[in-house]
Amino acid sequence: MSPSAIHPLPFSQWGLGLERPLVIAGPCSAESREQVLETALGIKQRTSQVQVFRAGVWKPRTRPGGFEGIGGPALAWLKEVKERTGLLTITEVATPAHVEACLKAGVDMLWIGARTTPNPFSVQAIADALRGTDIPVFVKNPVNPDLPLWVGALERLFDAGLKRVAAIHRGFHWFERTPYRNSPMWEIPVRLKATFPQLEMIGDPSHIAGNPGLLAPVAQQALDLNYSGLMIETHRLPSEARSDARQQIRPDTLAELLGSLEWRRASAEPALRDELQEHRDLIDRLDEEILQKLGARMEISERIGLFKQAHNIAILQPERWRQIMKAAHAFGKEQGLSANFIQALMDAIHDESIRRQTEVWEQERQAAGVQVSHGNGADPSGNKPDLA
Ligand code: PEP
Ligand code: MN
Repeated sequence: MSPSAIHPLPFSQWGLGLERPLVIAGPCSAESREQVLETALGIKQRTSQVQVFRAGVWKPRTRPGGFEGIGGPALAWLKEVKERTGLLTITEVATPAHVEACLKAGVDMLWIGARTTPNPFSVQAIADALRGTDIPVFVKNPVNPDLPLWVGALERLFDAGLKRVAAIHRGFHWFERTPYRNSPMWEIPVRLKATFPQLEMIGDPSHIAGNPGLLAPVAQQALDLNYSGLMIETHRLPSEARSDARQQIRPDTLAELLGSLEWRRASAEPALRDELQEHRDLIDRLDEEILQKLGARMEISERIGLFKQAHNIAILQPERWRQIMKAAHAFGKEQGLSANFIQALMDAIHDESIRRQTEVWEQERQAAGVQVSHGNGADPSGNKPDLA
């Protein structure tokens, strides 16, 4: 099934009375009946913005020996939370047995964790266990910054017939130190939204930030990017939490945080639309001009390619490219463009330029009847050939 043929339902059509923005809060782990109930009641008393209560029942720990969750018996506590507070409940599943236990216990929604999403065997087993049910499932991004694995996990659920499916952005493990526990790498969830425009996505600032100090800016950035909601780890007494103690906040802090955020509209009201449209028209025209110019640039690249071929000069000219980059960075800076952006844009232009030059060389060779078994031949997959 191609991504464009997939139509996950918006929260409003999940039949659960969910409203955007959807806020999910609760402890990292369900630790005891008292901890679960006190946390849920504390949340319920202090804010009306939370619609769903979370708690991990089976905890995937990186190394053995830590608290691995209470398991099945904790599901009864979630049921009690629902009865006492009216909050819907959600927990993490990693195996068909977890799915079965949750369905039996009446948990309202499930999430697939960041350590499970990247494993196609596990996700397929979960999808098979879910086939024929219509329980809502959230899919966290994989721990590693690998968009296709995230897309693949979602596709396995869609293929199993699930329509109440959403994504959770919880950040990515990165080998270099960053201010975050898990680097947000916002461009990855943005690309996921481009793949599945209708997919609801919520942010998990707790696992991105890793500490309460960064929660607000990360949550705000998610809302500014039009996320459909947030999942925030909340514990009656964070310092005593048996997992993720450093990033959890108390229910009163949660209420303060939610009150301090600016909640964006998903789209403009009719009165604002005309003004927005004027800006959008301008952008559309500029985008057209940019693409036209790029098309012209690539034609010249091809001409240069033919010239190089005729004079037996190699395609890749590192010194020339170094000069181009230097000039682009200087000019880009004058235009107020960031160095990262200039680098990415010029790299893309360079890749395409090399691909086009390689292609014309190959066409010329074929026209001349020369057979080349491998090497600089244009790769029909569009991959850049190895020019080293
Ligand atoms: C969690 O939500 O507590 C959890 C284990 O998250 P993740 O899978 O994102 O690490
Ligand atoms: Mn956690």
